[in-house]
Amino acid sequence: MRTTLNTQDILLILRQMPSSILFKCPERGHVYASKGFERDFGISEMGASQGQSIVFFDPQTKTQIPENANPFSMVNSGKSVSQQLRLQTDSRTMNCFVKSDILNTPLGDWVVLRVKPNSTELFADNSKHSAVSKHIVFNQLLTDFSSKLITAGAHELDSIIDQALAAFGEFCDVDRCYLFEFDEQEECMSNTHEWVAAGVTPFIDELQNIPTDTMPFFMSHISNGIFKVEDVSSIPDSAASEREMFQEQRIFSILCVGIMVGGKVYGFIGCDIIGSPYSWKPHDIEYLRRIGEMLGNTLQNLHNKKALQKAQAELLEANKQLERLANIDGLTGIANRRLFDITLELDVARCIEQRLSLSLLLIDVDYFKQYNDTYGHVAGDAVLQKIAETLTNSCVGSDDLVARYGGEEFVVILPDTDRDTLKAIAARILRNVLFLDIYHEASDHDCSLTVSIGMVNFNDTELESEHLKHGKQSASWLVEQADEALYRAKNSGRNCAKF
Ligand code: GH3
Ligand code: MG
Ligand code: MG
Repeated sequence: MRTTLNTQDILLILRQMPSSILFKCPERGHVYASKGFERDFGISEMGASQGQSIVFFDPQTKTQIPENANPFSMVNSGKSVSQQLRLQTDSRTMNCFVKSDILNTPLGDWVVLRVKPNSTELFADNSKHSAVSKHIVFNQLLTDFSSKLITAGAHELDSIIDQALAAFGEFCDVDRCYLFEFDEQEECMSNTHEWVAAGVTPFIDELQNIPTDTMPFFMSHISNGIFKVEDVSSIPDSAASEREMFQEQRIFSILCVGIMVGGKVYGFIGCDIIGSPYSWKPHDIEYLRRIGEMLGNTLQNLHNKKALQKAQAELLEANKQLERLANIDGLTGIANRRLFDITLELDVARCIEQRLSLSLLLIDVDYFKQYNDTYGHVAGDAVLQKIAETLTNSCVGSDDLVARYGGEEFVVILPDTDRDTLKAIAARILRNVLFLDIYHEASDHDCSLTVSIGMVNFNDTELESEHLKHGKQSASWLVEQADEALYRAKNSGRNCAKF
């Protein structure tokens, strides 16, 4: 009996093949896959029988091979194919060895590609020898990146972490490899670095500032150091929303390990398998853990460096604050005696050098002892505050310094101020103090509190000769002169300014 074979029969026979093959029927354009291929790539039968969309990538450059140069086209143009290629199906991407065959049938020549995925396990190999060499390669990678990270500056870290994820992602033949960081309060997590295999959709942009309370299932595992899912569909219903999120990303298997920095969970490193469930092996976990440790150490260093910089900045600020406090009078908020002494000495030298005159005012509150005795010390303090404010408002030169000299005495340094201007400023001070209208029964002037002022003014030549005479003591000599002038003012009936 003679049976006639039709295209559908050949198609069905090839479909049943237990070995992993892709084939194209001469009449139709579709690529079909055998059951063996479906098993290796984790494709559902429905998908395969309708014709798979298979994309070929150059395993080295990761670029897509154009239609006219893919294995089917090569065979059609008479060449045979026997090479390493990266295959992307609707479900996942894998490195494979592809070998072509032609099946001669009465219905024409069928192109058949035998496809052998490089490893059905991610990291392991069947022979003991190659498992060992795989460990050696892994250790080498780890060593290379560790030394890169140790010597890297902070600005290079991002790109080295990217390179490390790419190297490990490829080494482990996963579909996606990534790093997440938690914020300070562990309220949010963000994907900071991501590597994806050729043809796999990146998700980094969508995975920013994810509130951790939306992922309780994940968080409960990662806070113990590891999140391991072999089949996403097995995530319990109590975590249905997390399960759906992974399924939306077409993730089947996930492995994440926590990264500890400064004694707390800083983030995690993880990888995904897309398209088919994968049973994570102990060495998968070990590899990922060691990458996580390496990154953790690096981030810890960065963290320590940043903490050190922060402490240093705080110390500098505290020092500045102390310096400010050391120069400020506590009661009145103006410069204190210490700052006055430093400034006067500097100003003497500067005015000689720049050929400028230098003036000084010494201001003393009249009958202040009686004021305290009559109205109390607290009222006396308030008067000193008001006078300090008035002095500051009366002397507006940018180089002027108003300071509390001690007790109820104030002093003003006025560089580059001539005698007439100095007299005008002193008169303004006397007037402004009277305007304060502070009631003082013992005052000689309509029961209003007054001050007396001693004035000194030296032009540059006088200043220089006095300085030559008194040397380092010239600043205190100047104050003595002002004190004598103040004494004259007191003896002239107070509420006046005298040279
Ligand atoms: P004269 O017009 O001659 O300057 O008389 P006087 O009473 O102002 O001079 P005296 O030097 O005898 O008194 C100064 C007073 O200033 C004595 C002291 O109680 C008071 N005094 C000094 N420092 C402070 C302060 O910080 N707060 C208060 N409330 N009083 C002060
Ligand atoms: Mg006094
Ligand atoms: Mg006084």
